[in-house]
Amino acid sequence: MSELRIYNTLTREKEIFKPLNAPHVGMYVCGPTLYSYAHLGNCRTFLSFDVVFRYLKHLGYKVRYVRNITDVGHLESDADEGEDKIAKRARLEKLEPMEIVQLYAVDFHHVLEQLNLLPPSIEPTASGHIIEQIEMTKKIMENGLAYEVDGTVYFDVEKFAKTFPYTQLSGRKLDELLEGTRDNLEGQDEKRGRLDFALWKKAKPEHIMRWPSPWGEGFPGWHIECSAMSTKYLGDEFDIHGGGMDLIPTHHTNEIAQHAACHHKSPAKIWMHTNMLTVNGQKMSKSLGNSFLPQELFEGKHKLLERGYSPMVVRFFMLQAHYRSTLDFSNAALQASEKGFHRLMNAVKLIPNLKTSETSSFSFEKLKTEVYHALNDDFNTPVAIAALFEGVRIINSANDGKDSITAADKEQLQKLFGEIVFDVLGLKQEGAGNSDKVEGLMNLILELRKDVRAKKDFATSDKIRDELLKVGIQVKDGKDGVSWTIN
Ligand code: AMP
Ligand code: ZN
Repeated sequence: MSELRIYNTLTREKEIFKPLNAPHVGMYVCGPTLYSYAHLGNCRTFLSFDVVFRYLKHLGYKVRYVRNITDVGHLESDADEGEDKIAKRARLEKLEPMEIVQLYAVDFHHVLEQLNLLPPSIEPTASGHIIEQIEMTKKIMENGLAYEVDGTVYFDVEKFAKTFPYTQLSGRKLDELLEGTRDNLEGQDEKRGRLDFALWKKAKPEHIMRWPSPWGEGFPGWHIECSAMSTKYLGDEFDIHGGGMDLIPTHHTNEIAQHAACHHKSPAKIWMHTNMLTVNGQKMSKSLGNSFLPQELFEGKHKLLERGYSPMVVRFFMLQAHYRSTLDFSNAALQASEKGFHRLMNAVKLIPNLKTSETSSFSFEKLKTEVYHALNDDFNTPVAIAALFEGVRIINSANDGKDSITAADKEQLQKLFGEIVFDVLGLKQEGAGNSDKVEGLMNLILELRKDVRAKKDFATSDKIRDELLKVGIQVKDGKDGVSWTIN
């Protein structure tokens, strides 16, 4: 079996994965800023890391997966300008900042559960780690790489860059970054350099979220929370740090700088970045006005949508692109995914009932090798799915009596599909998760419906379908059989 290789943004190479303390693996992923509902693009990033988490566990690693919640310090622009996103929302809606975060956190967790993401091992909040952030800021100051101006503490990027490759992650040239920004220094005279960023911000009198610090009342900068929390839970060097690609130039570059200012190295060995979900080629983003919510997609309630798609179809749609490629949203692509998903799931259902023979007319080992080869190649889910579809073809053909399968291969096939489709890709049969009673009732109703159809009593068959729809259960008659979902 091939070894797992992961593309490392830091070295720009696919590296053989060797955990620092096998079998333990530490992974940190930048979580959401909960000032509004998470959109489908955000979900794509977390879903990609869910597959990483699941596959590492499948390989036998004991993974501590930390994904934070940003509930303070993320300003409107990445360049430390504007109001705190959550404080602003709280002010506008006349709510406590914690009420805002709670509202969106409940929704965020619900959506990720619908998409069948596993919860992370630890989900720390920035506001719960103010002391750790102050301590880290103090250490950076002691090391001479930060300075205070009137209650705000800035990281001195140019000084730091003299001893550490500040732009290693982004691959940009420091000179060009400085050139590009020097003209804008006007109005920024608090900072010594335009690239400097805040570790701690002085709170204006009207600012709601504020804590005492050695520099007066204030609140932490955005980047320092991830540095403080990743170190606290994963140590000063851990295996994987992840997030969306848009975080590379500022947030992650500054996270590395803060960490290196304390520990003289990058916090993580491997930096993984997911590519964007796009709409007509443009990044899905709240500010561009082209974003929609997962719930709108499930229910088909958005002007870009022709109809709704179930959470598992959406998950399958996302898995059909590699995490480092962009994925463009379209109705046609989702419809194709829906067909593929049902074909795959129907094949999985057929395996236990396949008739076995003395010989197999296919090579199970070849199929298995192809699946693992793809997943070991930087979690290449689309290639793994293509290999699984070769298995689907074999299953369907064995079911039709055109291909043959031995009892041993059948058992192996069931194990492979069970582990890869359910455990690693995180798909589940639609309707799974409903109680056994609901499953049992639906099986009975659809069985009876099959009987009346066999008698050509289509009026009763349609009545069953229509009445089920009225109570929110959608029955679909597809080429590969009947499926149902609870809306
Ligand atoms: P935010 O709440 O804006 O901090 O974003 C949470 C995560 O979602 C970050 O890792 C972003 O990189 C990621 N993200 C934002 N927009 C998209 C998108 N259109 N496609 C994929 N990931 C995204
Ligand atoms: Zn972060």
